[in-house]
Order: sequence, then C-alpha cells, then structure tokens
Amino acid sequence: MKINTHIGRYAPSPTGRMHLGNVFTALLSWLSTRSKNGKWVLRIEDLDPQRSKTEYTAMIEDDLQWLGLSWDEGGTANSGNNGPYNQSARNHIYQSFLEQIYNKRLLYPCSCRRSDILATQAPHQSDGRIVYAGTCRPATEPPFPVFSLKGNTVRVWTPDEEMHFTDIICGEQNGNLAVNCGDFILRRADGAWAYQLAVVVDDAMMEITEVVRGNDLLLSTFQQLYLYKLLGLTAPKFAHVPLICNANGQRLSKRDNSLSMETLRREYKPEHIIGHLAHLCGLTESAYMISAQNLIEIFDWRKIKRQDKIILQ
Ligand code: GLU
Repeated sequence: MKINTHIGRYAPSPTGRMHLGNVFTALLSWLSTRSKNGKWVLRIEDLDPQRSKTEYTAMIEDDLQWLGLSWDEGGTANSGNNGPYNQSARNHIYQSFLEQIYNKRLLYPCSCRRSDILATQAPHQSDGRIVYAGTCRPATEPPFPVFSLKGNTVRVWTPDEEMHFTDIICGEQNGNLAVNCGDFILRRADGAWAYQLAVVVDDAMMEITEVVRGNDLLLSTFQQLYLYKLLGLTAPKFAHVPLICNANGQRLSKRDNSLSMETLRREYKPEHIIGHLAHLCGLTESAYMISAQNLIEIFDWRKIKRQDKIILQ
C-alpha cells in the first residue's frame, strides 16, 4: 500500500539571485511541508539555456541553506529517486509524455511567428497573456493528421471547456480554456520545452502533492490541469501565494537589486527576514525575529492573507 505523504517543492528558475518574493514562496512551501512532516523537493527549472546559469543555482542553494530551508530531494546533489532534478536533464522524459498526447492525435504543428500571434490578440488580453487564435489548427476536429514532432513548434488542441479547482489560498477558481489560452505550445521548433508541459510532468513524476508558487501562475493552473487530465496523472493541491511588490505596486524582479538576497544578507540575519515575511503575510502579529524552524508550529494556511499582492511600504 502506498503511504500518502505530503511532498512539497520549490522550483526556482536559476536566472538570477533570489529576492524577497522568491524567499516568501520558498518559506511558505517549506513551512507547509515541514508542518506535515513531509518531504521538500528542490527542482531546478533551467529550461531556458540562455538565461539559466549554474552560478545562480549554487547561489539559490546557498541562500536557502542560510535561511534554514533544508530540502530532502533534488538540487545539484540530485539526491532522491525521481531525478534528475534539473529540467535541462529531463528531455527524454518530456519526450515520452509529448508522444502520449501525440498518439491521441491532439497535437498539430504551428508555423505562426510571435508577431503574427500578437497581431491576432483580442484587446482585453492586455495583461500579457497570449490566447492563440487557432490560425494553424487543422480544419477538422481531432484526431489530427500525423506530422513530424521534430523540428516543428507543437500545439495541443484545447476544448472550449470550463476548468475548476480550489486553491488553498485563493479559494474557488473557474476558467475556460478557450478564453484563457486557446491551443498552447508544448514544444518549440528549436526543441525548447514549454513550462506548462515540463511542470506537469515533473510535479507528477516527483510525486508532488502540494504546489506552492506565486499568484502570477494562478491562471496557468487551468492549462496544467488539462494536461494532467490528458496524461491520466493525478494533480496536486495548489496554493498561489501573494506577490511581494515594491511601494509602486510592481512585483519584485531579479533585476531589482535592493531586495535581492545579496543585499539582504549583508544587512540582516535570517531571523529578521523570516520574521518580517511571517508578519507581512499574516502568520504573526508583529515582526519579531524568528527562525524558519520555530515558525513551523505557528504555520497555518488559514492565517495567510487572501490577497494577490503584498505591498512593501
Ligand atoms: N520556475 C518558476 C519560477 O521560478 C516557478 C514555477 C512553478 O512553481 O510552477 O517562477
């Protein structure tokens, strides 16, 4: 009999030093996992070869250790049974899952350029989301004709279907796949895997039971739930945590150095940073110094503010 343990994960892209917002996501995921005596997986999302750097992976690991956020599987040590834990080494795994969907004849090649796609965007898509108008979609419904998976940008047919999930923080969520994204890319012609496919395959194969990540990825969850369904995989629970924003209301970026771990570590102790975040999100009533370890017993998802942004004053 399979023992149903809690498995959480932190899945950073090594494209820069961690900032306070990244620390916040990692902390909540870690606390939730540790409060349930679960396992915490560190997966390195280095799908983008141009922007991902091994130096950043090393810094992320060093920052997590300095903060007291230990992991049980993954990272550069690749410990654990479900590795490799860096996405750039998992091509063969993504390929086999892509072929499963291909064999259902739900995929088609797409030759649209980004500029063509942007030109067909409806005006309300001003939040940066791309909804594919279906320019290259075959004229008949699936099953679609066979084509070469190699060398083509590959899209998956998405139905005009309502999706639903209950987020641990944001509550009931409903979205329509056709309105939210349309047919989306699973792999680009140059061989680059889409985040949506990789994240679903990895979370399922690494047996993740709870995904904690920034609120900016809330809408992606509908696409991911669709892929879970197509692949016959069990979806985890999701908690989309508020984004930490600067005083102008903009989310922190890896290019903004003022709240990067490099600066923070020069000025503060880990207990300052953890205590400050715990107070900002509603876990504690004031910002006293506390270690991540000592926060475990205070942690409760019900205390976390239900909002999409936390503005730093
Ligand atoms: N790799 C993504 C990031 O660093 C996170 C993706 C996820 O947690 O699903 O923002």
